Amino acid sequence: MDERKLTDTECTLYGTKSCALLNMQDCDKCPLKGRVADPAIHDDLKLFCDLQPEGTVAQLFESETCTLCKDEPKGKPTGFAVFDMAHTEPKKLAQRKWLQKQETGFMVPLQFACCSKCRRRILLRAYLPLITPIVLTLIVLPFVMIEHFAQTMRQAAGWLPLAVVLAAIVGGYAVGKLLSYLYGRKIETELYVDVRTHPIVTEMIEKGWRPLFNDRTPHLAFTKKRIDRGLGTAPRAVYDMPDCEAPASEE
Ligand SMILES: [Zn+2]
Repeated sequence: MDERKLTDTECTLYGTKSCALLNMQDCDKCPLKGRVADPAIHDDLKLFCDLQPEGTVAQLFESETCTLCKDEPKGKPTGFAVFDMAHTEPKKLAQRKWLQKQETGFMVPLQFACCSKCRRRILLRAYLPLITPIVLTLIVLPFVMIEHFAQTMRQAAGWLPLAVVLAAIVGGYAVGKLLSYLYGRKIETELYVDVRTHPIVTEMIEKGWRPLFNDRTPHLAFTKKRIDRGLGTAPRAVYDMPDCEAPASEE
């Protein structure tokens, strides 16, 4: 955090809670650079604070224990599982231009501090439908390629070797899907496989947030280093700063 380059002391947001919430870290990279900030930004960001779950989204990445483990003792975080959520508020955000290319309302990356055990299990569950067809294909391939077996198969039916390989791929995928489902059921007692059931996420959903991609089980991206720039990445303490007074601009 010491690498912050907040150099633009002329900026109307300089030193304010709004600046800290935007958390751009570097004035040169801020979309508001060189523009007079729309005073409505303070209201927007106050709304952003109001839409936070209890303890704010910062508690997810600031946690010193894994936020995906259900059981005690929870694991030690070794990285982050990232999952984006969006809100339809504020409606006029696109017009307010304080964030470019923003077509919806607020967007926030949820960064779950995550232990390596949870990461490994979630990835295994996600990749099982890919792993099993590969393994099965590697098992049947030698039989198809060894002339002795291949010849026997061709004598039975010319298409049999190809059918065996296709069956390994299709069957492997189906088996992988089933194993993935069963494995998910097994581990969900110990960790949040589907992050939409996480208490912080359910609280956010009640407040109108939605997963950015509405998959059946949301896909998590894993990173070692957390995203530390942009809305929703500011530390917990920032939310406790006094609210910004909108500059006197009564009409
Ligand atoms: Zn864990």
